[in-house]
Amino acid sequence: AADEQLLAVEDCSVSYGKVSALRSIDVRVAEGEFVAVIGPNGAGKSTLCNTVSGFREYSGSVRYHGDEVRGQSPRDLVEGGLVHCTESRDLFGHMSVEDNLTLGAYRANTNVSERLRFVYDLFPALEDRTGQHARTMSGGEQQMLAIGRALMGDPDLLVLDEPTLGLAPVILDDISGGIEQIREEGVTILLAEQNVTFALRHADRIVLLENGEVVRRGTPDELREDDYIRESYLGG
Ligand code: ATP
Repeated sequence: AADEQLLAVEDCSVSYGKVSALRSIDVRVAEGEFVAVIGPNGAGKSTLCNTVSGFREYSGSVRYHGDEVRGQSPRDLVEGGLVHCTESRDLFGHMSVEDNLTLGAYRANTNVSERLRFVYDLFPALEDRTGQHARTMSGGEQQMLAIGRALMGDPDLLVLDEPTLGLAPVILDDISGGIEQIREEGVTILLAEQNVTFALRHADRIVLLENGEVVRRGTPDELREDDYIRESYLGG
């Protein structure tokens, strides 16, 4: 039923002036589910993430926990457990790893030391670097820190925008392992990814966006069998 959806995006359109970035799209994410939105540069993935987390005006409907996102501030949404880990990561470069993490504990009643323990168990590389400035960390470590900081907010819905961007394969394994543990915790995930192999490996369901429109949707198994996906996104 519709009210079992944690996130329900329906007939949603977003434009930037004359550029139409999302065209009447539908994306639903049930509690506990992991949905990946894939597509090439400019397909609208980041716009969808930003819309869901309250940073864009839209037409149509976007409901989180049944409540329309329009009119709620990003801060209200975070307080309600919708946490967005942006493509640019938005770390505080001159602050330490631990201070960046602690800043992520923005929800009321967060047990900070318990959350820190959870994040350090997830990404042990961070625990070896608690005092290091964020800007001096490698790209992969910064990505772990960005995801870790999002998890400090104890999210119900984690919106992850391109966590694999620019990362070496060996680091991807660490990120993959972390993401698997996050889902075992029961966190619902909306992932935007250009790395189709990565998305297919992790998600329960996939939505393919092209030019702001949904052109395919299905399970990873269904999409692996799809000729268009194979030829255009999986190298034949
Ligand atoms: P990428 O992976 O390259 O970030 P994407 O799938 O996330 O791509 P979006 O960033 O959502 O795609 O962009 C969708 C369209 O909206 C593009 O045509 C882009 O130029 C445009 N767009 C995105 N953000 C803005 C903005 N702030 N102002 C104007 N146009 C924008």
